Amino acid sequence: MSKNKNSRLDSMYETLSIFAEGAYVFVCDMDTNVSRWSKNAVEYFGLPDEYMLHAGKIWADHIHPDDRAAYEKSINDVFSGDAENHNVHYRAAAADGSYASYTCKGNVIRKSNNEPDFFCGIIRNHSKYEYIDNNTGLRTVYGFFDDIKGSSFTHNVNLILMIGLSSFSNINDIYGYEFGNRVLQKFSRKIIEVFPDSNVYKMNGTRFAVMASSVTAEEAEEKYNYLHGYFRNDFYIDDTHVVLSLNGGAIQVDSFDVSWNTFYSCLRFAYYQSKRKKCGGFVIFDDIIKADNRRCVEHINVIRNSIAEGCRGFFLCYQLIVNTKTEKVNGVEALIRWKSDELGVVTPDKFIDVLEEDSLFPELGKWILRQAMEDGKKFLARNPDMTVSVNLSYTQIQQPGFVNDLFEIIESTGFPPSRLCLEITERCRLMDIELMRNMFGFFREKGIKIAVDDFGTGYASIGILRSIPVDVVKIDREFVKNIDTDPRDKSSVKFISDLATSFSADVCCEGIENNKIRGFVRKCDNIASMQGYFYSKPITADEILEKLDEYNND
Ligand code: C2E
Ligand code: MG
Ligand code: MG
Repeated sequence: MSKNKNSRLDSMYETLSIFAEGAYVFVCDMDTNVSRWSKNAVEYFGLPDEYMLHAGKIWADHIHPDDRAAYEKSINDVFSGDAENHNVHYRAAAADGSYASYTCKGNVIRKSNNEPDFFCGIIRNHSKYEYIDNNTGLRTVYGFFDDIKGSSFTHNVNLILMIGLSSFSNINDIYGYEFGNRVLQKFSRKIIEVFPDSNVYKMNGTRFAVMASSVTAEEAEEKYNYLHGYFRNDFYIDDTHVVLSLNGGAIQVDSFDVSWNTFYSCLRFAYYQSKRKKCGGFVIFDDIIKADNRRCVEHINVIRNSIAEGCRGFFLCYQLIVNTKTEKVNGVEALIRWKSDELGVVTPDKFIDVLEEDSLFPELGKWILRQAMEDGKKFLARNPDMTVSVNLSYTQIQQPGFVNDLFEIIESTGFPPSRLCLEITERCRLMDIELMRNMFGFFREKGIKIAVDDFGTGYASIGILRSIPVDVVKIDREFVKNIDTDPRDKSSVKFISDLATSFSADVCCEGIENNKIRGFVRKCDNIASMQGYFYSKPITADEILEKLDEYNND
C-alpha cells in the first residue's frame, strides 16, 4: 500500500473513531484489502492485529454459523460492486467464546473516477452500552469514560466536576416518576447553562459530571455554590417549589503522568467527601492534598498502579489485642502499609479512602485477606486460641465474587474460619442492610466473627447493631483518649459497652495509649479486650511472632 494511501486509511479511521461512541470501527482499503480495526475490538474478539489482510474473512469466523451466510452475502455484494451499503445484524463471538448480538453498518467511499476506494463502518453491541441517556439527552458514563481515556483529555480539560443529588427517591415517591424525570431534565439544563463550553454527562444514579476546559477551581466553587442555592430556594417545576440537595466534588487536571483511573477515583473521593462529610459543601480534591501533601494525585497514582503490579510495595503490620482481665494476647489486627524508596512507609490514612473508590481495590482486598491468613497460620502455631482481624472495605464487600473469593482464600491457605474476625469499617454501614444481614449471617454460620469498627463515630452505629448480629464492638480511640480527664468520655465508654453487651456483643476498646488510660479502661465493666500503643504499635509479622513468644513465656 502506498504511504499516501496508508495515511489516508489511518486518518479515515481516526475521523470515524471520533463519532464511534463506543462502537468498534473498521476501515478497509479496497485496493489492497488491508483493514484497520479498533484496538478494543482486537482485544475483545481476539483478532490477530489492528491491521489485517482480508479482515472480512477473519471476521466471518467469529460470526455465529447460523448468521454467517447473510453476512457473507452482504460483504460479497459490497466488494463486487452490487451494493454500496452493508447493514447486517448478527451474533459474534468474543475472545472467550461468548456470543452477543451486533449491528454492523458500513459504506463504500469512491475515488474521483468512481472506483471503490475505502469500505468503512462500525460494529455496535446495542445490548451492552447505552451511550445516550434517554431522559436528559446527555451522554452517559460510557461517553465520559471514552473521553477521559482519550488522548486529548489532559490537553483539553483542566477541571472535572461531579455533581449529584441526595435522597432523590423522595422526589419520585412524593411527586411520581414522570415528575422526577422532568426534575432531572431541568437540572441537567441548568448545569449546562452554568458550565457553558464544557461537556456534561449523566453518570449513574443521579450524578452528573462536567469536563471543563477553562474553569478555575475558584470559579467552579462559585458556580457550584450558585447551583446549590438555586436548587434549594428558587427551583420550580410548574408551580411546585422543589427543594434539591446537591453534593459536589472536583479535581484539577494538571498532571500528565496520572492515569485516568486515578483521576476518576480522586474525583469520586472528593464527591463522596462532599456527600458524607461536608453535607453537600463543595470539595476540591486538590484542597485535601494541600492539607496533606503525601496524598497528592501522583502518589495515589503510584500506589494505585502497584495494585495492578501484584500489590508490589504493600505489606501488613499487626497490632496486638489483649484480654482486659489477664492481659494475655487475644488476637491481632492486620493493618495495611505501603512502602517505596522515594516515599518511605505510607500509612493507610493517606490512601485507603481514595483507593476504596477505585475499581482495583477488590484486588488489594483479596491480597490483604490472603496475606493476613498466611501470616495468621504462623501466629496460630504459637497461640491457637487467638483471632486474626482483617478490615474490610465496602467496595470489596459489594463485589459479586466477594464471598467466593473469601472462601477460596480460607480453603487455599487452610486458615480456620473460627479464628478469623472481619472488621467492618464506618463506610460499610452505607451498604444495603439486607445484603449485609444475609452475608454476615452466612459468615457467622461458618464460624467467622464480625466486628463493628470505630463504633460511635458513624451515624448508623446503633442501627447496625439492631440489624445485623455482631460478635465484637470496637470502641473508637476518640472516646478514650481523654478518659482520665473528661468524665463525658467515661460515660460514653460505659454507654457504648452497656449497649453492645445488651446486643450480646463483646467490647474491644481501641487507643490504649498509656498506663493511665489502661488503668481507667480496666476498671470499666464489660470491656472484654483492649488494643493500643501501650501494648504494641502495629509491627511486622516477624515481630508479632517474637511478641507471642514473650507473652506465652510470661
Ligand atoms: P482501624 O481499623 O480502626 O485501626 C486502628 C488504627 O488506630 C490503626 O491506624 C492503628 O495504628 C491506630 N492505633 C492503634 N492504637 C493506637 C493508639 O494507642 N494510639 C493512636 N494514636 N493510634 C492507635 P492505621 O494503621 O493508620 O489504620 C487506619 C485505618 O485505616 C484503620 O483504622 C482502618 O480503618 C483502615 N485500614 C487499615 N488497614 C486496612 C486494611 O487492610 N483494609 C481496609 N479496608 N482498611 C484498613
Ligand atoms: Mg480496624
Ligand atoms: Mg478502629
